[in-house]
This record gives sequence, structure tokens and C-alpha cells, in this order.
Amino acid sequence: MPRDPYEVLGVERTADEKQIRKAFRSLARELHPDVNPEPEAEDRFKELAEAYEVLSDEERRATFDRYGHEGLKGQGWSPGFDGFANFGDLFGAFFGGGGSAGPRQGADLGIAVEITLDDAFAGIKKQLEYEAVTTCETCHGNCAKPGTPLISCKQCGGHGAVRTMQRSPFGQIVREAACPACEGAGRTPEVPCEDCHGRGSTTGLRTVEVDIPAGIDDGQRIRVSGRGNAGTSGSPAGDLYVVVHVEADERFVRDGDDLVGVVDISIAKAALGTTVTVPALDGDVELVIPSGTQPGAMLRIAGRGMPSLHGRRSGDVRVVVSVHVPEHLEEAQRSALESMVDDLPDAAELQPGLFDRIRRAVSGSVSGH
Ligand SMILES: [Zn+2]
Ligand SMILES: [Zn+2]
Repeated sequence: MPRDPYEVLGVERTADEKQIRKAFRSLARELHPDVNPEPEAEDRFKELAEAYEVLSDEERRATFDRYGHEGLKGQGWSPGFDGFANFGDLFGAFFGGGGSAGPRQGADLGIAVEITLDDAFAGIKKQLEYEAVTTCETCHGNCAKPGTPLISCKQCGGHGAVRTMQRSPFGQIVREAACPACEGAGRTPEVPCEDCHGRGSTTGLRTVEVDIPAGIDDGQRIRVSGRGNAGTSGSPAGDLYVVVHVEADERFVRDGDDLVGVVDISIAKAALGTTVTVPALDGDVELVIPSGTQPGAMLRIAGRGMPSLHGRRSGDVRVVVSVHVPEHLEEAQRSALESMVDDLPDAAELQPGLFDRIRRAVSGSVSGH
């Protein structure tokens, strides 16, 4: 069952002609397959065009309001853009610019790939499989059984175009449209190719090797030119868009080109100072934690973060120091601490302002050290 056309266009049931046209135009610009590479855009655009066809015609709209989709069907109406040869034509008719008669560029495709943070750090080549429309290998896209000729199209007499009178919401339009029989080529096969049933293309699995550059971030897209669906009649293929997902990492959270990690140390080491090993992505780094380091202090290891996609210097590794207060004390530890209790100050000697102390307590993060 098709969706409610009011819902598709996002308008009230009481919307007037102008509001309906406005909603259609703005959605059409967004969803048209020539400008929107998302794979579902074409279906949504088709749905939109059908909804508009119903609501832009007074009689059809009244029928739908009273009897729904069943009523339209009962009147012998079926969606089909009033004879527009394809979406490009429909788009062209409404927005000016040529409707694409004849060969059409193939559609863009989108696929996703998941990589680790280490892959994103070093860059990686990935072999990816995806489904696409490919030019038929048997007939090389000319649609004829090998060894048989192409003959002049009977429907258009070899012109490739047919003149049609079309009803549109904006009045009658006389236009040249691509011949539906030969798709504008002017010639059709005498004997269709058996492997592609005369379509010139087949759908199948394809493989592509994608170079994922070092420094790529989660959600970024890589365009692989010409690896989308094949076009018709020798026109160019669409592009392939690879969306990169970077898996969450146990060690670091990414912040721009910086990598942020946490190191846990005991209260004694925080007071006395220590050295810890930080597992940076290009190898371990010995990090000196100075004596008197406060909980939440942030230490910076310059230039050991993610490489920059834009040729700037690499990011940093930022290490947040988490100071662990023991939950259970041995008797000796307890008495050692008790002996210090009256000597150790509760606050820094250089009393920070109240605001700084609240900020430290709340965010647990202090810049620098
Ligand atoms: Zn073929
Ligand atoms: Zn034709």
C-alpha cells in the first residue's frame, strides 16, 4: 500500500495548491537522484513524485480524500508521472534545465566499512565487495546477441526521441522525450543478448580496493570515482561512496587529531612522582608524572596523536591522571597514613580561587601540571 500522499509531502490535509507545490519543490531538490547519492533517494523521489501527482490534480485529490488509494485505482489511475520518460525529465520539466533524454549516467552507490583506530592511524587498503549494475560482458552494453545487428528502432523510427503532449500541474507541455523503446539510442537489437535480456547491464558483486588514508575520522566518506552503477548506452558510471566507521577503542577516545587516554596511579605515586608507560599507537611512550600531580591533571605527549588528513602536524596524546585512593588498608598502611594526617594539608598551599576549586572537583580535569 502506498503511503498517504499528504504524509509524503509533509503538508496538512487542508494545504492549498501553492503550499503543496512548495513542499514538492523543496523535497524534490533534496531527493532527486542526480543530486542525492543515498541509495534510497531514488525510491523516495519516486514516492514523492507519485504523491505530488495525486495532490496536484484537483479531481484526483478529491478522489483520494474520499476513497483513498483504492479509489484512485478504481478510476484506472496508476502512478507513472503522466508519461514523463524518467525522473530527469520530471525534474527538468519543473525546474528548467534539460531533462536527460537518451543515455543516462549510472547511479551513485554507498557502502560502509568498519576499521580499527590502529587502521585509522596508519591508513589501510581494504578490499570491499558490493552489489552494482555492471555493463554486460557478453554484449558490452549494446544489448544485442553477439554477431547480430542493431536495427533502427521501430517506435521512434531511429530518431531516439518521441514528441509527447504531457499534462502537468503547470499546464500542457509539449516535449521531446527519450524514446522508451530504445532509451534514446535510436537503435535496438534484432536479437536481444541472452545474458542481460537485452538490457545491456547485469547486477552482480563487484570488488574494489579502497585506500583509506591515515588520519581518517569516523563517519568520513571516500569517493571512488566511476565505481557506482554502470550508465546506459556507454554513458559514464556513477561513483561509489565508502563511509568509514572507526570502532571504539579501549585505550583512547579521539578528540579532533588528539587521542585522550587515562592512566591510573596510586595516591602515593601521585604524591611522590612516577613514570608510566603509555601505549601510543606508534609505540610505547615513557611518561614522567611529576611529584604532586593532582587527580584529573592532564599531561600532553606532543605529536603522538593522529596524523592530520590536511597535512598539518599530528595531534597529541593527552593523558588524564586518575589518582586511586585505596579502599582497603593493611594495618601498617593505616598507621603510616594516620601518622601523616595532621601534617598533610587539605588544600594546596597556594590557595586557588573558589571557582578553580569547584571546577576541579566537578570536572576532574585540570589543564597542564
Ligand atoms: Zn548483454
Ligand atoms: Zn526508439
